[in-house]
Amino acid sequence: MICSKCGQRAILSQRYSGLHLCQDHFVEDFERRAAETVRENDMVKDGERIAVAVSGGKDSTALLLALAKILEGRNVEMVAVTVDEGIAGYRDDTIKAARSICERLGVEQRIVSFQEEFGFKLDEIVAGKNEAPCTFCGVFRKSALNRAAKLLGATKVATGHNLDDEAQSVMMNYLKGDIERLLRFRPRREQPGLVPRVKPLRDIPEKETALYCMVKGAYTESRECPYAQLSLRADVRDMMNSIERLFPGTRQSTLRGFERIAAMAKGKWTGIDLLKCRKCGEPCVRDLCKACELLERLRL
Ligand code: SF4
Repeated sequence: MICSKCGQRAILSQRYSGLHLCQDHFVEDFERRAAETVRENDMVKDGERIAVAVSGGKDSTALLLALAKILEGRNVEMVAVTVDEGIAGYRDDTIKAARSICERLGVEQRIVSFQEEFGFKLDEIVAGKNEAPCTFCGVFRKSALNRAAKLLGATKVATGHNLDDEAQSVMMNYLKGDIERLLRFRPRREQPGLVPRVKPLRDIPEKETALYCMVKGAYTESRECPYAQLSLRADVRDMMNSIERLFPGTRQSTLRGFERIAAMAKGKWTGIDLLKCRKCGEPCVRDLCKACELLERLRL
């Protein structure tokens, strides 16, 4: 397989674009697309301090590497936030990897844990329960990240969500018929107490974030989270991977289709004004935030 741009040996065949890319042209293409997403969506302004969510997995590692490159020479500061959910036999390894990439890039790292923030490890929270661990994990992680970003004086939170994640989230909301959540998925207007989130890798497939880490010498083999298979997302991921194999470009069209719906809803659905949680003060939809609601249930 020969690179479509220079005739060197290709390391990637992008079925959705029809291009074959050698190592140098793949890196160039990856960073160009991430930079375009950042620029076109006005994700980062000069003078900002960005809290980058770095778990140590391939997506967040690729995010930190790409942002370090894209923002080079700009007046933008980065600080890494690593959330330790308390998942035995899984998170410890990725935390080591997160520490290593932060040290390599000279980025300050702050580790926050569910244990310190909420008084429980995820393993303790889900032991003996029938509910999907990801439900608890997602709520507590969002809350921990937002709190850490505020404490660190960050103006944005950047996460490593890739194209696969984004297309899966859109599809999951379609399947649940949750249109309100679906529309909340597009960039939100700013709300007090909520540090705006950006996803610079949202247009890049997961396979390419792993390859980018490999060619940048930052790939660490890590196990999948032991709870990942217990979620609806795992089924949606398998379904979308099968469709993508048959019809390359389906993930992109899923996301573009959602963006067209969001554009049509613009002005008609303005979202809700967030309130302040009566217990912890974090922004929320009702008077008690989801994290405090779950904590109350756990302490019953
Ligand atoms: Fe948390 Fe679920 Fe991700 Fe595991 S797969 S880290 S439980 S959200």
